[in-house]
Order: sequence, then C-alpha cells, then structure tokens
Amino acid sequence: MSNQSMRFKIYGIRGSYPPTAGFPTHFGVNTTCFRFDVGPHVVVLDAGTGIINLGADLLKEAREQNGSQNPWRMFIFFTHLHIDHLMGFPYLPQIYFPQSEIHLISPKIVNYSLADALEMLMSPALFPVTLDELQSTRIYHDFAENRVAYFTEEGVHILPSLNKKGVDKWILKVSAIRNYTHPKGGAYVYKFETPAGNSVVIATDVEGFIGGDQRIINFAKGASILVHDAQYTLPEYAMFQGFGHSTYEMACHVAKEAGVQKLLLFHHDPKHDDAVLSELEAAAQKIFPETYMAAESMEFTLK
Ligand SMILES: [Zn+2]
Ligand SMILES: [Zn+2]
Repeated sequence: MSNQSMRFKIYGIRGSYPPTAGFPTHFGVNTTCFRFDVGPHVVVLDAGTGIINLGADLLKEAREQNGSQNPWRMFIFFTHLHIDHLMGFPYLPQIYFPQSEIHLISPKIVNYSLADALEMLMSPALFPVTLDELQSTRIYHDFAENRVAYFTEEGVHILPSLNKKGVDKWILKVSAIRNYTHPKGGAYVYKFETPAGNSVVIATDVEGFIGGDQRIINFAKGASILVHDAQYTLPEYAMFQGFGHSTYEMACHVAKEAGVQKLLLFHHDPKHDDAVLSELEAAAQKIFPETYMAAESMEFTLK
C-alpha cells in the first residue's frame, strides 16, 4: 500500500540563475528541480542546479541502502531546454557511474531535441567531458502533449494519450500540455498523478493572462498542489512583459479558478531576497490563502 503514495520533494526554486548577490536565504538558491518518489522509482522534473543536491542525496541513499527507490535509475522529464533548467546536468554525479541508468524524457523545443541541447552543453568548447565519454547508460524518450507516461512497478510506458487501453496497475501517471507563452518554443506544464487521483501540477516558465490562463486552469483542475511561476513583482512585470514569466496575481488567479488545494509560488527571481519573497507571499495569501513560497527541501506525501 505504501507503494501507492507519492513523495514530492523540492530541490530547486530559482529562475534564471542562482542568486549571486550573496544574501542569506532560507528559500534556497538552486534553479528548477523536483523529485517524485513512487514505488521503486525516482522521477525528476528538470535538471537545474537543484539536481546536483538530488544526485548527492541518491548517492547517500545508495551508500546507506536506506531508500525504497532504486538509487541507480532515474527518470528525468524536461519542461523545456533553457539553460536554467539544464545547467545542473553536467554536474549530476550519476552520469559518471557505469551502474547508472538514466531515462531522459523531453519534448522537442523548436527543432532541438534534448540530446541536441545536452550535446551543445557538453561540447568541448563549453565543458571538459562530452556526452559520449560518460560511463552511464542514457536512454532518450520523446514526450509531447499527446502522450502519457504510465509508471508501473517495473518501469515506464509512454503511450499516445488517445490510447485508452492504458496500462494495468499503474502507480504514477505523467502528462503535459504545451504552454505557448514562453519565448522561442514554449515550455511544457506537467501533471504528476497518483491512482487515487491526487496530483502535483508544475507550471514553470509560463506568463499569465488577465483572468487566468484557461488552458492551465483546465489542466490543473482540482490539483492537490499547483507549483506556478511567479518570478516578477507587478512593476517588474511591466518591464519584462513577454519574457514568459508571471506575477503572483496571475498564479493566484489560476489556483483559484482551478480550485487547487495548495499553491506554491516559484521560479523566484535571483534578485529577490527573503524579505521580498515573504512580502510577496503575504500579498498572495490575501488572494488565495493556501499560497506559500516554494522553498528547497519542502516535502509532501500524497496518497
Ligand atoms: Zn526558467
Ligand atoms: Zn525558460
């Protein structure tokens, strides 16, 4: 029965780049990365710098043999290929170990596949180790709006979403919609769902609309947790409209309309210190009371 629950842990909450101003912060400094533990699987969303700590945790779990997950197998989904969502990958320790099996699951963005982007990132001009020098096994899977990933105890099955036959006894379902508001190819909004119907929806790198983004509202209907981009204050938004990020007001509208249980604001601007983030959190709670600023090491268990 415990296999049916989903543990959701946050490893990276910043947008753009880790803060460089040196202010102390209890929210965290790393760029986007989330971990889901379901049954024997470690499922990850995005490889921002947060994935470096996730990798360290997995090494510790492997050493101590204290987790029920297989610490040498990871399934990493990607929202899009911007650098803040990829920059942790070359520093993920698991990619250097021969016993690692790493599944990389990503939509194509414009004409670039994830493999293209990682090849560029780990090209000799930018990094001392190339992809084909890595000891680990890496398996690429294409993902798209019309596909659903079903996890069973054994592994993952990625199916066309119209294939209603599905898979018996799935323990985690992952689906996505493409959000067109993020520059040059968009970003994908993901839903991680348990068989009991509880879900985490992650809407990173989305720019909201007045009255809420209806496609995201429909996709996030009734979610247990909505994690939504809220990078800008309203005055900042006026300067950065079109950059593909939201304000807390936009995130709160989506949460309200979708009737989610909890809203976590994230993709925190690297220039926002704890005082700014706390102020924005308090303001957001006036619109949607169950709103919190996402912080690293936050952890939830969903049935
Ligand atoms: Zn981003
Ligand atoms: Zn982006």
